[in-house]
Amino acid sequence: MLIFLDIDGVLIPERRHETPGSLAELMKFNSDCLNHFENVLRSYPNALVVISSSWREIFPFEVIPPLFSPDIASRIIGFTPFLNPKNIHQHKYLRHQEVLEYLRQNQAENLPWVAIDDIPEHYPPDSPVVAIDDYNGFDQNSAKVLSEYLT
Ligand SMILES: [Mg+2]
Repeated sequence: MLIFLDIDGVLIPERRHETPGSLAELMKFNSDCLNHFENVLRSYPNALVVISSSWREIFPFEVIPPLFSPDIASRIIGFTPFLNPKNIHQHKYLRHQEVLEYLRQNQAENLPWVAIDDIPEHYPPDSPVVAIDDYNGFDQNSAKVLSEYLT
């Protein structure tokens, strides 16, 4: 099972109080959101995580896994690919296309997957998406919904 994970609005909720002062603060995940997410992963050891967030436009992949707990970091396996800019305008659901392209490039078209995003409109309506309330980020209810997909 692959989990395509967004970050902003998911592991970094909008309600964050202070404006981050440094890059390290900016990149820090909310500990409650991270705990809820990682605890689900601990119950499903076969689930792997691919980052679908726009963070992949800013950071090299190597900086991402260390932001997770050490027992989870090795399960953060990559970024979704960037599509050819020439073709991007053809896609209404860009993030969904990036997921499909990741599956294609990794010969994983037959693997079940689920996406986690605070903008579920990045995916067609019938897609397996755990929709997150961006104000709270990944919470207890998100954990329950994700578990149902992974079971
Ligand atoms: Mg987001």
